[in-house]
Amino acid sequence: MRTLIAANWKMHGNLSWVQKPAEFRALFPANQAKGDKNIDMLLCPPAHMLEAMARASEGLDISIGTQNCHDQSSGAYTGELSADMVAETGANYVILGHSERRAIFGDTDDWVASKTSAAQKAGLTPIICVGESRAEREAGHAEEVVGSQIAGSIPMDADGDNLVIAYEPVWAIGTGLTPTIEDIAIIHDHVRGCLTTRFGAKTADKIQILYGGSVKPSNAKEILALKDVAGALIGGAGLDMESLAAIAAAV
Ligand code: PEP
Repeated sequence: MRTLIAANWKMHGNLSWVQKPAEFRALFPANQAKGDKNIDMLLCPPAHMLEAMARASEGLDISIGTQNCHDQSSGAYTGELSADMVAETGANYVILGHSERRAIFGDTDDWVASKTSAAQKAGLTPIICVGESRAEREAGHAEEVVGSQIAGSIPMDADGDNLVIAYEPVWAIGTGLTPTIEDIAIIHDHVRGCLTTRFGAKTADKIQILYGGSVKPSNAKEILALKDVAGALIGGAGLDMESLAAIAAAV
């Protein structure tokens, strides 16, 4: 399975950052680094730089994604972008249901499911984020929470051949904390099981399941070596191209 290394820039950066894909490629050349042909790189900048980033990434073999989209195709939704609008910028991925979207902007499983449906219809690849809070983990409910988010966030009409899942424990995001390697393996195995129930083994086995939450150059190798971990969704370390290249080199 190919490995997807995705950087979520959140609300960071300005238009001068369109140089970053070239900066990344200078540090991690597409045709030189070992194993690179199995790696897909994805940068998810704020919406105002999507089009410029998509243009700047052409020929560099780097995909561009957005961090959200609306489920409706148009209408009186001030401040929102539809999936078709995102696709028009040249982006081809969309992160959906990130824990910050769920906690701050009220994204529910139902809404994530509708957005996933809209994204796939627009030709985008959705990356659905799931993950438990610290309290849920401490109460021993991590698997149950993640299973329920998977069931609720994948729409009935989902195309399992065009879907990525990111397991991001909320308590590990931006904190420097990570679950143990065993705990990551347990949840990824559980996610694979949920996907198998939903799509059948043939399709489920091809779905990339990313890990996200304080991935950095020093822990990437161990995490990315896990059987069911097909990449990483990276926040803080993804703002710095040197760190991102080091993470990609760890694959
Ligand atoms: C994230 O926000 O999705 C994330 C994983 O952030 P960080 O890598 O900074 O923990």
